[in-house]
Amino acid sequence: MNTPAAETDSTLEELRIAALVRQAPLEFARVVYGLNDRANGRAGTMAAEDVARTVRQGVPVTRERAEQRARAFLPLAGQEHCPRCWVFHGIKSPLHYREATDDRPESGGCKVCGAEYATTLD
Ligand SMILES: [Zn+2]
Repeated sequence: MNTPAAETDSTLEELRIAALVRQAPLEFARVVYGLNDRANGRAGTMAAEDVARTVRQGVPVTRERAEQRARAFLPLAGQEHCPRCWVFHGIKSPLHYREATDDRPESGGCKVCGAEYATTLD
């Protein structure tokens, strides 16, 4: 028996969504690290720079906002959006998925912030 293509696609979508949902709390943690780094004079860390970039674009970054957004992160199958842009900015930047090769697993990249997320985390 052949596996219907639709079934394969929906499994892949589920994997993508599950992998992204696991990223939202990690992006929230980056916000917290970034805010702490800035408060402690370590503006050069990657997390601090992500916070600084967001603030420069006129979006205040607070721990509370980021936490709320991380909890509310709910990507839709076929319209996956970037966890980092969502948690930092509250914007939905589309992720562009690149198929797996021999060297690397499938991953989704964000053209707005440059984040990249693998579909499988193990
Ligand atoms: Zn992004």
